[in-house]
Amino acid sequence: MFDIEKIRADFPILSREICGKPLVYLDNAATSQTPSCVFERISDTYCRINANVHRGVHTLSQEATDAHESARERVRKFINAPKSEEVIFTRGTTESINLVASSFGKKYLSDGDEIILTVMEHHANIVPWQLLQSDKKIGLRVVPIDEHGVLDQEVYRSLFNERTRFVSLSHVSNVLGTVNPVKEMIRYAHEKGVPVLIDGAQAAPHLRIDVQDLDADFYVLSAHKVYGPTGIGVLYGKEKWLNEMPPYQGGGEMIAHVDFEKTTFGNLPFKFEAGTPDYVGTTAFASALDYVDRIGLENIASHEAGLMKYTTERLMKIEGMRIFGTAPEKSSVISFLVDGIHHYDMGMLLDKLGIAVRTGHHCAQPLMTSLGIEGTVRASFAVYNTQAEADAFITAVEKVVKMFK
Ligand code: PLP
Repeated sequence: MFDIEKIRADFPILSREICGKPLVYLDNAATSQTPSCVFERISDTYCRINANVHRGVHTLSQEATDAHESARERVRKFINAPKSEEVIFTRGTTESINLVASSFGKKYLSDGDEIILTVMEHHANIVPWQLLQSDKKIGLRVVPIDEHGVLDQEVYRSLFNERTRFVSLSHVSNVLGTVNPVKEMIRYAHEKGVPVLIDGAQAAPHLRIDVQDLDADFYVLSAHKVYGPTGIGVLYGKEKWLNEMPPYQGGGEMIAHVDFEKTTFGNLPFKFEAGTPDYVGTTAFASALDYVDRIGLENIASHEAGLMKYTTERLMKIEGMRIFGTAPEKSSVISFLVDGIHHYDMGMLLDKLGIAVRTGHHCAQPLMTSLGIEGTVRASFAVYNTQAEADAFITAVEKVVKMFK
């Protein structure tokens, strides 16, 4: 049974007041709140089993190693990866994409090669590819969107040529909420012999991810958007690529043998995990995924879809309201502007009314440019948001609009 009050009780931060008003947290696409089982796990790890992993013979080290490696298996199950060795822990989506761009780029890209991105990408899926351009003359080709925020598939297919080496795109847009047809896009890229990375940062909290069904070559996500701790991310990669790609960083943990003449590298996943991993974070992330599974991603998604429909319909009744992103397949994000009101003004005034939303370009400046705007106000839902909160948010927006009349 989906018991919203019981769920809310798991998130102590939700009982805070902001400016004397109950907090309505609608900035979930930036970071979701963490349930108590996650920070209790952090505290338990520090209180009971804290010790460096992988290289200790003593009991604490073995327990910490077991917990960390179980977390890897937990993530494998969450995304249905074939093998836990294909799950690399990183600091987040950003680091995962930088790892692939740098390592894949070194091994497989040369002057004149091309990479396909989309106009809706987060900067984390643009800048790492641009960094390669200081070494190699790589071309970036960009898929545009239509007026609903849907990717133009015809243009996508037309961008492939004999120099196309890689496709990197988001599963769900952090601004428009568009759920991209990544399975079909991957299938097309594979027909052309091109591997694909999917940025799942905004998909993981809302959609069931099955990397085998998608046939994704790489899939990346961040724990802090899936009710987990900050500073933990995932890079899933097919073994065939990860085995061939050179290490990203060097140091302890990632080696087989070190000599001043020659060093050999460890096996997967350790080859890509130099240094002491954040085993406190990975184990806490496993608890977050258990929490999500206990509620059920499908239940979470249908609860959020109800809130999205209700809020969108009511917001549309406000004079001067413009919503960016009206794709038929849309996730839990509403980006909007009201004529004559700057997004920062709207965001700051909403904060005074207890409502936390995000304002600005949302790390998607090329998308803003293509929409001909500087930024939006973005409200995004999570499992613990209620219809009463949606009402409070809509009433607050109406109040701000009245202030500007
Ligand atoms: N990609 C998308 C689609 C995002 O929404 C975000 C964060 O908002 C990122 C990448 C970057 O994630 P992180 O900052 O956790 O590395």
